[in-house]
Amino acid sequence: MTRVVVVGAGIAGASAAYELARKGIDVVVVDDGVPGRATSAGAGIVSPVAVSPLSAERDAYSFASCVHYLDLIQRFEAEGLTDHSYGVTGGLIVAMDEAELAQVDEVVARATTLVAEHGTRGAGQPVALDRVELAKRFPLLSLDILGAVWSPEVARVDGRIIREHLMTLATRAGATTVDGRGSIVVDGGQVRAVQTKAGRIECDTAVLAGGAWSPELAEELGFALPVYPQRGQILHVRLPGASELPVVNGFRGHYLLAFPGDRVVVGATREEHSGFDTRATAGGVAQVIANGRTLVPSLDQAEWLELRVGLRPASRDGDPFLGQAPGIDGLFVSTGYGPQGLTLAPYAGSLVASAIAGEDVAFPSSFALGRGTEPALQ
Ligand SMILES: Cc1cc2nc3c(=O)[nH]c(=O)nc-3n(C[C@H](O)[C@H](O)[C@H](O)COP(=O)(O)OP(=O)(O)OC[C@H]3O[C@@H](n4cnc5c(N)ncnc54)[C@H](O)[C@@H]3O)c2cc1C
Repeated sequence: MTRVVVVGAGIAGASAAYELARKGIDVVVVDDGVPGRATSAGAGIVSPVAVSPLSAERDAYSFASCVHYLDLIQRFEAEGLTDHSYGVTGGLIVAMDEAELAQVDEVVARATTLVAEHGTRGAGQPVALDRVELAKRFPLLSLDILGAVWSPEVARVDGRIIREHLMTLATRAGATTVDGRGSIVVDGGQVRAVQTKAGRIECDTAVLAGGAWSPELAEELGFALPVYPQRGQILHVRLPGASELPVVNGFRGHYLLAFPGDRVVVGATREEHSGFDTRATAGGVAQVIANGRTLVPSLDQAEWLELRVGLRPASRDGDPFLGQAPGIDGLFVSTGYGPQGLTLAPYAGSLVASAIAGEDVAFPSSFALGRGTEPALQ
């Protein structure tokens, strides 16, 4: 192999670039920095257990992704990057009504089985908490919460920092970067180069990691990648005393989490028909605040810090697209991570790098390319 070009430097591309460079492979990363990069807006929940059941293969992959984080963070620290933002805070899934409360035991049982099967990373077992225990442990939470699943292994990160550190370590290991749009050039069924405004970068392998913009790269090469942009608006506020909050998820997809300095991240909209429009909307912000207040009513008093908007690279079936593109030698794809890319993509980067290095890698079969070829939403 001569060179690998990674197209896209969100968390998917940055992870692949870092893992490739650390193997001593010549890597160039091309990114056009258009507004809407999902990684820069991501809330930061790193959790292996979902509210709804997933396939056994997906569960195994999610746990492996969370374990991978521990290794990655150790490597950051060994390189002096100690401000990595990763923290194991534990996570709640809170029930707001009787129907949700009835699901708590089911989720605890499922999470317990998964933890027994895949390991807790030493954090402890999931348990159910009643409203009295919740009020005692987390006084900022709404008294309307009836009960919750407590998962001690849930962690959180700041996606911007993780991405920057991955790029820092990639460049330290020899990777180079090019700003601007890249276009993958294939000839005779083999990747030959990536074309940018600055010139043609010869290579024999490319990683397509363009987030929500990935379908246009694939289309240029004659195959469909059914990924679409799903806008997420997410609010950052400062709320005194909030640093101690764990990750708090509702059953209906709303959530909040806290970082040191009483910074609370309240999320998020999931806008299916946004297209590539990255504007914030009054309705989106109103929805985020209303949902957040049901979890922590004192959000009303919080100081507004910023609103972030990102385009999640979503897939119809909720699974990513990860692996070698059929029919094109030297082309690997890592995208479609939807609402879970900060959790799932770093591990994917390590798998892609191993596969490119010629190691024996089994990508999850449900992440295969070629499935669901309906056109992307506009
Ligand atoms: C509001 C919100 C909250 C989220 N919360 C969480 C969470 O709590 N936990 C979690 O695990 N995940 C979360 N996610 C999801 C996660 O952020 C995404 O799945 C992940 O960041 C996707 O990373 P990516 O690298 O695939 O795409 P992106 O981060 O979008 O990066 C793609 C990059 O490719 C570049 N690019 C595209 N095409 C080209 C081209 N042709 N040439 C050059 N460059 C190109 C773009 O400019 C961009 O920089 C959230 C997302 C949002 C928006």
